[in-house]
Amino acid sequence: MQWRNHRLTTCALTFVLTGSFPATAIATAASALPDVLELKLVKHRTLTHYPWLPVFPAVLMWRAMQNEPGYIVYIIFFILVGYICHLAEDFLSNSGIPLWSPFGKSTGCHLYVTHSVSEGVITFAVVAMAAMYGWRNGLFTQAYLMQAADNLAVFLTGMVHHFKGR
Ligand SMILES: [Zn+2]
Repeated sequence: MQWRNHRLTTCALTFVLTGSFPATAIATAASALPDVLELKLVKHRTLTHYPWLPVFPAVLMWRAMQNEPGYIVYIIFFILVGYICHLAEDFLSNSGIPLWSPFGKSTGCHLYVTHSVSEGVITFAVVAMAAMYGWRNGLFTQAYLMQAADNLAVFLTGMVHHFKGR
């Protein structure tokens, strides 16, 4: 999947699942990471697209967040969420991702072929389904969006204080 479409789908998915602007922004910013980390050295869709590598630290960060919430764990957790979204999105494609071993055979859902019209269609379908889900859960009401914007302001001012005070 192209980065623009990774950004769109990751943004839509994380916003409707978390309802949070900072979480959505962090995950969206991280949505190209599995391709970026290949650094043109690692074969495409191998080691950096092996899903079990990011899942393990994501679980650890999730647990750390429950025990002791903080900006660092929160940011790392949502970077990993963006990372995992990228892999899920690639998994929907024809070429898929390696599920069994990092350099082994790839498995995919064959819903689209990268760079073809079908990629656009699947991107649209994912965003549309997410939007419908979010709509039904009241994420697009004025009251909710105002509150989410408020939470974003609290998050940002808190973060500035946190890092300045170190
Ligand atoms: Zn990829």
